[in-house]
Amino acid sequence: MPPRRELVISAADSDSDISFPDDDYDASRDKGKSKGKGRAEKKKVDKGKGKAKDSQAYTWEASYTRSWETVQEDEAGSLQTSVQELMARGRRKRLLAPAAAIRRTIIRHVILLLDLSSAMLDRDMRPTRFDLMLQYAREFILEWFDQNPLGQIGVVGMRAGLGERIGDLSGESGNPQEVLSYIKERHKLEPTGEPSLQNAIEMAKASMSHLPTHSSREIIIIFGSLTTCDPGNIHETLETCVKNKVRISVVALAAEMKICRELSDKTGGQFGVAMNEGHFKDLLFELVPPPAQRALTRTMGAPSASLSADLMMMGFPTRLPEASAPTLCVCHAELKSQGFLCPRCLAKVCDVPTDCHVCGLMIVSSPHLARSYHHLFPVKPYDAVPNLEDIPQPSDACHGCAKLFPMTTSIPIGEGVSVVGRYRCPDCRHDFCSDCDVFVHEVIHCCPGCGK
Ligand SMILES: [Zn+2]
Ligand SMILES: [Zn+2]
Ligand SMILES: [Zn+2]
Ligand SMILES: [Zn+2]
Repeated sequence: MPPRRELVISAADSDSDISFPDDDYDASRDKGKSKGKGRAEKKKVDKGKGKAKDSQAYTWEASYTRSWETVQEDEAGSLQTSVQELMARGRRKRLLAPAAAIRRTIIRHVILLLDLSSAMLDRDMRPTRFDLMLQYAREFILEWFDQNPLGQIGVVGMRAGLGERIGDLSGESGNPQEVLSYIKERHKLEPTGEPSLQNAIEMAKASMSHLPTHSSREIIIIFGSLTTCDPGNIHETLETCVKNKVRISVVALAAEMKICRELSDKTGGQFGVAMNEGHFKDLLFELVPPPAQRALTRTMGAPSASLSADLMMMGFPTRLPEASAPTLCVCHAELKSQGFLCPRCLAKVCDVPTDCHVCGLMIVSSPHLARSYHHLFPVKPYDAVPNLEDIPQPSDACHGCAKLFPMTTSIPIGEGVSVVGRYRCPDCRHDFCSDCDVFVHEVIHCCPGCGK
């Protein structure tokens, strides 16, 4: 059978964990091991062949091909062009983003709903959907807190037809390390049984019912299954979600299910089906910036919340120096010297941001507030400088890092890339290099030239 031969070759070519059934090869690679291993691997390859007949290519094979295709050397044999092209793609994406002022919620409450059903053991994403989900969920949580320091995350799992509370919103869920510890122990989250969307959404909804109106209520579902096993009518749950302004976003790993699409469409969330590992991450990380408040909420009623802004009280605490006399904190009742004093009742708390345990005032530090604030006023995208002729007195070096600009003009790559390597702020008219351009827009969110 010719196809068999082909598969074995391609497996070895792409450097995978499936090796040649050849005993010599096995021995040369791993001399200490017995022949038993060779036999076991032979079986593994046989199994692979059977599977290859059903589906055209493995997902991992596809990703290998893609990685060769996307990175291409230019004439000089350098990878610089490909890197610049990737950066240009990011720049173009930023240009598409709305520049006008929009309303965004900065105090966010998110429940991460993880599918822990047996469908998550599928290996179409490497190593398994489950492991990949845990890995991306951890990265997501870190990134999310970086961008939304005033928010809180809770975690709910769905397995064996039930919704399972893994980590609560209350307590210290405003602390990324605490949230990471919810999903740290893999063996406690072992996937099993069928998922139940309705049970899990009801549970997530109930844990957000106490929240005040100025905060957002969001559910982010990572769903790998193609079925849901519900005790009642899930459309009723959907209606109550719409009524309570719970926004549901779904990242599906298998295929589009009508109910998932409906959940996100009717509540104003996002829906996407991951095509591969990278796309899965992109879809998840699109949910990191706070969602813009759309006209949807306005038509749904609640006139006070959507048309006029509510004012809310926040306090900036006094930080106690480490050398101060140890006193009891109100949150853990422990003797500590460091801490923060509530500006209203002078109670001592260990960490900010938090709600004062005594008077309920929201205590934030100004850097936290500033970090949440930048979503509302994003730095304007820099213009790629097309040539040096129009500039009367071009600066020699980047305004951000003082790196000298190249004197030569590079070959044009495409839209959004400057051939002279300069990117200009439309406000302060300072020139920046491409690295600083990316750093300003993705990390510091503030132009060093004009301070905006
Ligand atoms: Zn404490
Ligand atoms: Zn207080
Ligand atoms: Zn620079
Ligand atoms: Zn500027």
